[in-house]
Amino acid sequence: MFNPQSSESSMLTSRETLLSTLETLPDALFVVDDATTIVYANASAQTMLGASREQFLGNPFWRGAPQLVSTALYQAVQKTTQTRVPSEVEYRSPVTGTWLHVQLAPTVGGLLLQFHQGRAARTAAQRQETVPQGERLYIDDLNGLHTRIGVLTPEGIVLEINEVPLDDAHIRREEVIGKPLAETRWWSCSPPSQEQLRAAIARASRGETARFETVVHPREGMDLHLEATIIPRRDVDHHVEYLVYVGTDITERKRAEAEIHALIDAIPQLVWTGRSDGSQDSCNQRWRDYTGLNTEEAQEGEGWMQCTHPEDRQRVLETWQRAVQTGGVYETELRLRHGTTGEYRWFLTRAMPVRDERGQILKWFGTNTDIEDRKQAEQQLKESREHLRVLAETVPQLVWSTGPDGLTEDWNQRFANYFHATPEQLRGYGWRQFLHPEEYDHVRAVRDRSLETGDPYEIEYRLKDSNAGSYRWFLARALPVRDATGQILKWFGTCTDIQRQKQAEDALRQSQERVNHLMSSSVIGIFFAEGDVVVEGNNTFLRMTGYSRDELCQRCINWGDFTLPALKASLFQQAHQELVVQQDTTPFEAELVCKDGSRLDVLMGGVAFHGEVLQGIGFVLDNSARKELEQRKDHFLGVVSHELKTPLTSLKLQTQLLRKQLGKQGIYNADTVLSRMEAQLNMVTRLVGELLDLSKIQAGTLEYAQETVNLGDVLQEVVEIMQQMQTTHTIVVHRAAHPPLLVGDKDRLEQMLLNLISNAIKYSPGANTIEVDIKTSEEAVMLSVHDQGIGIPREQREKIFERFYRAVAPHQRAFPGLGMGLHIASEIVKHHRGTITVESEMGKGSTFQVTLPLRRT
Ligand code: ADP
Repeated sequence: MFNPQSSESSMLTSRETLLSTLETLPDALFVVDDATTIVYANASAQTMLGASREQFLGNPFWRGAPQLVSTALYQAVQKTTQTRVPSEVEYRSPVTGTWLHVQLAPTVGGLLLQFHQGRAARTAAQRQETVPQGERLYIDDLNGLHTRIGVLTPEGIVLEINEVPLDDAHIRREEVIGKPLAETRWWSCSPPSQEQLRAAIARASRGETARFETVVHPREGMDLHLEATIIPRRDVDHHVEYLVYVGTDITERKRAEAEIHALIDAIPQLVWTGRSDGSQDSCNQRWRDYTGLNTEEAQEGEGWMQCTHPEDRQRVLETWQRAVQTGGVYETELRLRHGTTGEYRWFLTRAMPVRDERGQILKWFGTNTDIEDRKQAEQQLKESREHLRVLAETVPQLVWSTGPDGLTEDWNQRFANYFHATPEQLRGYGWRQFLHPEEYDHVRAVRDRSLETGDPYEIEYRLKDSNAGSYRWFLARALPVRDATGQILKWFGTCTDIQRQKQAEDALRQSQERVNHLMSSSVIGIFFAEGDVVVEGNNTFLRMTGYSRDELCQRCINWGDFTLPALKASLFQQAHQELVVQQDTTPFEAELVCKDGSRLDVLMGGVAFHGEVLQGIGFVLDNSARKELEQRKDHFLGVVSHELKTPLTSLKLQTQLLRKQLGKQGIYNADTVLSRMEAQLNMVTRLVGELLDLSKIQAGTLEYAQETVNLGDVLQEVVEIMQQMQTTHTIVVHRAAHPPLLVGDKDRLEQMLLNLISNAIKYSPGANTIEVDIKTSEEAVMLSVHDQGIGIPREQREKIFERFYRAVAPHQRAFPGLGMGLHIASEIVKHHRGTITVESEMGKGSTFQVTLPLRRT
């Protein structure tokens, strides 16, 4: 190796010779070692560099001789060092602009570099041999570019640099060439940037292209946003030969981005951007506030996926990956966790790719819009829809809904079941096939009208029950559902089964018709009363009583107005009592007081039903004609019996007189005939007497004496008389020790007893005993007549006390009589304020019981 610093004595002379030779050479000559450190430079070299030897000896060549540095030279040095084959290179000095021709020769442990100024007569082909054309960089070519471009050694030492960065920093090229780029002015005042650069150079020197963004300070007051790219260039052996540094001014872009970010931060949504590969690279403040993640956290690891709800992750990831692959619009809904509260909220995420002019995706812009409220509303809507559905399925009606056009869209199960039809058969107007033909047109007309006006409707129609094969009545109701602007969205309707109601209505109508017919009866007067007020009455009733319908409507007719004061206390009160107790009255005869004060004989009856007040229906039959006839008949009986009584009395006297006269003449053979005549006369006299009594009772003119009567004695007398007349029966008397005294009519009481005992004898032809009991208490005397006769049928026991009533049992032999005796007897008892009742058993006998209150003298 050639080493001028070494000193071997044998070589000394020749070395000096060599040195002086080299010193005289017109070309600049450098000797560098393997580390490219200058170990020797001749005098021409000093002249070329304009510096003394001491200034650059021992320095790296690239730093010590910046005027001579170029990439071509660097490449040639590298190549010659490796190959140990001499080479030459020609280039224009980036600093001086002069053309240099350099010959490189390997030495022991280094290189010899000889510089000739000016171009050598070499062909382009020869030059290309040294440095491949494509790889060759001419700084002149780079100067026109706005980009900051430099060529670096793999260690980062600047070999070439264009004008733009020199202008930025206001420095000359030679101040930079040969220096590590990281230590130049641009980078040295920003340690973080310096670090970034060093790391990038290290990566590039390993063969990777390194890219980073940073801020440099080329001069005081200037901040430059750079996107720096360091690209390794390899030689034919694929070794990294040198590095190309490209720095792009992105200050404007950064400012624009900052503006965009400010704008993005102002957007109420969570905004983010993604790289073309789908990774997130930025997000706005709202995004960070919500997720609690900073930009770096969002970019690292799972990134934004970590705040996505676990259940949504897979789906969302797949959607996002598909969008990234296809470049289509990305849209999905997902739940994001709130960084502070840990709660999840629903978001609508949308993202669009931004493409360059070639259509390549540069970036994704995405937004997350909070749709929690909408989701909740949707959920509530869903729930309320569900509730509605359950309700629709629960109610006993057929439920359906139509669109605004009236076409059926939806229905409940009951609806489908009723028609037993498929959805296709029911949809639209399909269901109308189940309408009863008689209602079809009407239903259509009503429906069309309500669709036109938007008014709800209510209509009754029959629908075919497909299961039963018959029609049932329904009440259909429909209501429109409108939106905020009043537009009809839907119609909701129900069909309520009213078949039973309809049947009840029909029955009611029929019964109403019947009642109307009944009320229009011209025979019977009918009225309704609530308490004392007559609230309704038919025309017959009004005609009978003389009141007008107006008076009726005004509720001016009071029940009390119809009744005579005397009757109020008895007959009507009894009827009222019956109504209260047994809801109806036994028909009774009464005299109504008409509006004009006239009286009307009527036969009345009534039924009652209980409300808050006693309500009743009264039936009134005009009884005046019958009453008049009865009166005439009574009058006739009265007259007849009166008329008969006089000749009968006279006939009786005549008979007695005849007996006396015949007795005086000693004629006795006519006695038997006369006795028979007298007996018949007595019987007729008794009958006429009874008739007379009856007519007096009817007329209310029967007179009673007021005297003290010993009923025991009266009974005794009657029994004695009867016993004389009747030999068939024995009358057994059970009487109290102290016969009771009462005030009354002795003859009438006697008549009453006679009647009871003679009936007992008459109606017990097969028996031979009659028992008569007389008992007393503090208040009353009780008398009973018991026989063992034929008995009285149960249903006739009350009636035997009525005038002319005669009880007849089937297959019973006929007994003589006119049905007057018991009526007169009961009238006599009633006059004495007593009661008469009967107990009887058919075929076994009867017991008549008389109770008379005691009024002691
Ligand atoms: P009559 O003249 O028919 O006996 P009454 O007024 O005395 O009339 O009796 C009315 C009816 O009562 C009789 O027709 C008879 O049917 C019935 N009757 C009265 N007393 C008795 C009795 N002791 N046993 C059976 N039936 C009797």
